[in-house]
Amino acid sequence: ITFADLALAEPLLRAINEAGYTSPTPIQAQAIPQVLEGGDLLAAAQTGTGKTAGFTLPILHLLLSRPLTGQRAGRPRVLILTPTRELTAQVEESVKTYGKHTPIRSMVMFGGVNINPQITALKKPLDILVATPGRLLDHMGQRTIDLSGVEILVLDEADRMLDMGFIRDIRKVLAVLPKQRQNLLFSATFSEEIRTLARGVLNNPGEVSV
Ligand code: AMP
Repeated sequence: ITFADLALAEPLLRAINEAGYTSPTPIQAQAIPQVLEGGDLLAAAQTGTGKTAGFTLPILHLLLSRPLTGQRAGRPRVLILTPTRELTAQVEESVKTYGKHTPIRSMVMFGGVNINPQITALKKPLDILVATPGRLLDHMGQRTIDLSGVEILVLDEADRMLDMGFIRDIRKVLAVLPKQRQNLLFSATFSEEIRTLARGVLNNPGEVSV
């Protein structure tokens, strides 16, 4: 199986080629078609499996396939929540690498740094927001972010987010998202707490595991 078999848009295939990837990893081969179909997904995958491209590639494809008229300042169409600053940076790097031949815009948001540059950055058009939950809540409180246009939610490394005590923050974010949306949950482990979160967030999800 090749990336072309997965029917990804040409600008994405070009970026994948430039990244030097020859074939999808097992998690990518399983997850990409399911995300492209528009359904919810529960994925069991560790880091190092290529899971990040497993969601960023089909999300970029879906955004390209829908009119880009939703592009507005401070109003993302995709929200990716991750536990740490490092992971937000890695995920956004992936979005930028695969999306480099597209007009799709992304931004990272994390705590422990001055909020003002983030507020300034939110005044520009934005498609994909990669954020840690705590700082996202700060922006919600200051009304510098508008989550009413979120079409796709990703909870990446959900088990680590729960371990770090983000469940309350995640629930507050979930409460303001549009009800009609696609949800993807990635986790390396599956505790009862993760299963409860998954049941509450995911709608009839497909499941993949590697
Ligand atoms: P991840 O599990 O998402 O953190 O990815 C682990 C590493 O694998 C990253 O450095 C990616 O650049 C790389 N990678 C992702 N997909 C592929 C692929 N299909 N072929 C080769 N390397 C890949």
